[in-house]
Amino acid sequence: MTADIIDGKLHAARVRADVAQAVAELRATHGLQPGLAVVLVGDDPASQVYVRSKGEHSLAAGMRSVTHRLSGDTTQGELLQLIAALNADPAVHGILVQLPLPLGLDQQAAIAAIHPDKDVDGLNVVNAGRLVAGMDALVPCTPLGCLLLLRETLGDLAGLRAVVVGRSLLVGKPIAQLLLQENCTVTMAHSRTRDLPAICREAEILVAAVGRPRMIQADWIKPGACVIDVGINRVPFDDPAKAAAGQTKLVGDVDYKSALAVAGAITPVPGGVGLMTVAMLLQNTVTAAKRQAGIA
Ligand code: NDP
Repeated sequence: MTADIIDGKLHAARVRADVAQAVAELRATHGLQPGLAVVLVGDDPASQVYVRSKGEHSLAAGMRSVTHRLSGDTTQGELLQLIAALNADPAVHGILVQLPLPLGLDQQAAIAAIHPDKDVDGLNVVNAGRLVAGMDALVPCTPLGCLLLLRETLGDLAGLRAVVVGRSLLVGKPIAQLLLQENCTVTMAHSRTRDLPAICREAEILVAAVGRPRMIQADWIKPGACVIDVGINRVPFDDPAKAAAGQTKLVGDVDYKSALAVAGAITPVPGGVGLMTVAMLLQNTVTAAKRQAGIA
C-alpha cells in the first residue's frame, strides 16, 4: 500500500482562487475591498520572506495590502501606537504582526493590542476563547488549513479518533478544538505524554505539530490513517558532500518515506500544510472584512 499524497499546493491554489472570487464579489456588490496590514519589525530574513509572500498573495487576490516595516530598535510604545492606528483605520480589516518580534519587545502585549475583530492570525485570547466556546472566531491560519485538508481528504470527520501531538497556542490547541467541533474524539499529546507511539497508533487522524525532525515513525501510525504533518524542520542533507557544504533541506515531524507505506493519506513537507497557511490568512481577512461590514 502507498498512501495518497495530500497536495497542499493544489488545495492552497483553490482557496486563493475562491478568495479572489469572494473579493471581486464584495467589491462589485458592496464596494468593499478587504484590506490586510502586516507589521514587520526588524530584519529577520525568514520573516521578510513570509511577509513578502503574504503581501503578494493578498494583492493577487484583489485585496488591499500594506506592509509596515519598522526598524529593529522600534520601542514597544511605537509598536503599540501603530497597532492602535491600524485598529482605528476602517480600510484595514486584518492586522498581522509578524512573529517572532525582536528581543526586548513584548509579543503577548502586541497581540493583545490588536482588535479581536481584526486579529487575522487568531492569536488574541479573545479569539482563542471564542473558538473554545464555539462562537464565531478568527482561527489561526495553519490549523484552519489542516482542517480544510482533512475535510477534503476524508469528508465527514464525525466519530473519528484524532490524536494531535503538540499543544501550542498557534497550532496544537486550535487544531484539537477544531477537530472536537467536527465531532472527532480527540487526544492531545505532548512532551510529557507516556507511551506516545501507542497513543499515535490509535489515531485515524494523526496531526504532528512538534518541531522534531522525523520523530513519528511508520510503526507509530495506524494502517490507513490520515497523517497531517505540520512540522517544518531544517536538517542537513543525507548526501555527505552536500551536508559538508552546509546545505540543508526541510523535513516534517513524520518520517515521511517510511510512513508512506502505512498511512492512507499524508501531507508532504514541503508541499503540504505550509502552503495552506497564507491561503487561510487571505480567507480570514475576507471573513474579518465581511463581519466588520455586517455582511453574513
Ligand atoms: P512549539 O514549540 O510551540 O510546540 C511544540 C509542541 O510539541 C509542544 O506542545 C511540546 O510539548 C511538543 N513536543 C515537543 N517535544 C515533544 C516530544 N518529544 N514528544 C511529544 N511532544 C513533544 O511549536 P509550534 O506548535 O509552534 O510548531 C510545531 C511545528 O510546526 C514546528 O516544526 C513549526 O516550525 C511548525 N509550524 C508550521 C507552520 C506551517 O505553516 N506549516 C506554522 C506553525 C508552525 P510541551 O507543550 O509539553 O512542551
